[in-house]
Amino acid sequence: MRAAITVLPGDGIGPEVVAQATRVLTAVGEKWGHTFTTREALIGGAAIDKTGTALPPETLAMARETDAVLLGAVGGPKWDDPRAKVRPEQGLLAIRKGLGLYANLRPVAVNPKLLHASPLRPERLAGVDMLVVRELTGGIYFGDKLRDNDRASDNCTYTVAEVERIVRTAARIARGRRKKLCSVDKANVLETSRLWREVTERVMKQEFPDVALSHMLVDACAMQLIRKPADFDVIVTENMFGDILTDEASMLAGSMGMLPSASLGEGKCGLYEPIHGSAPDIMGKGIANPYATILSVALLLRHSLGLETEANAVEHAVDAAIDRGVFPVDIAPAGVNPASTGAAGDAVVAALRQ
Ligand code: NAD
Repeated sequence: MRAAITVLPGDGIGPEVVAQATRVLTAVGEKWGHTFTTREALIGGAAIDKTGTALPPETLAMARETDAVLLGAVGGPKWDDPRAKVRPEQGLLAIRKGLGLYANLRPVAVNPKLLHASPLRPERLAGVDMLVVRELTGGIYFGDKLRDNDRASDNCTYTVAEVERIVRTAARIARGRRKKLCSVDKANVLETSRLWREVTERVMKQEFPDVALSHMLVDACAMQLIRKPADFDVIVTENMFGDILTDEASMLAGSMGMLPSASLGEGKCGLYEPIHGSAPDIMGKGIANPYATILSVALLLRHSLGLETEANAVEHAVDAAIDRGVFPVDIAPAGVNPASTGAAGDAVVAALRQ
């Protein structure tokens, strides 16, 4: 197949980890006979420095023309003034909005060789393999905000259509996995959650009778993620609950350097990025863990290009690199010499070629 991919290296360690991820993309193209054309563009602090804006219109236009977007990370101390009018994160919000990306997917799987890196006891982590689908463009983060002397309020709104589309996204993914969908809400207190639950029940009954649906209150879910994380397959939830639960779930895998994400909309064009930031404390040292960005390439192959075999192969190649003891600095066990960013990329490419 032929596909065009917009590559946005961004700031800090972004360019370092993206360089390894594009090598992996090239290796996939060579092995399976695909032509992937990559085109680089500016976002974040790098874009502010050159153009004065965090998302130049050319970047968004390019992203709209291509099949997928691969992003490193944005931000850093240079642009950290909270009073500044132009900030790197504006680039992220603007590209998600510009591409209409309403579903954020964060898979969390625990490699048995990385149990030492998690704060949880190893026996709790055995078999953890879940995916959180977070609604990304509605709810309290986007509602009206009011401030009046000694009062403030944030409005939380969801429409039936917004709930339907995110539930369908999550259910389709659950259908390709263990066929279990857990919808997380706060239906005992919130009206938006009662609507969420009603719509979820209807969509699942009418369109996905083969997927087992359960409901969980968000407070109970926060507890079960630590108590019995292996019980979850796919979780679907609204924007703010998803924001909080995904950070909690990321600790199961031990390091942010291992976790990819995908943001999807109605079209095929998705945005793929590691969940970590630009890590300015280690930038330029050649030690950043590129696995999360490489695993984001796997999600890109799966969700935007429909290349499931190739996506699985990339995920297995990362596992193989770890099995061979190629541990970047954030996941290296005590006493083990950490691998450089380039060495970790080499190990994944080598495993893919085998
Ligand atoms: P961070 O994720 O950049 O770093 C947190 C810690 O994890 C640091 O010690 C860092 O060295 C380490 N780390 C992160 N990724 C790593 C990797 N791949 N390999 C090895 N170690 C890794 O979060 P932060 O320090 O809170 O934020 C730094 C900057 O990144 C800020 O400007 C913030 O706004 C930005 N940020 C951007 C994104 C994004 O682009 N999506 C997300 C979060 C933070």
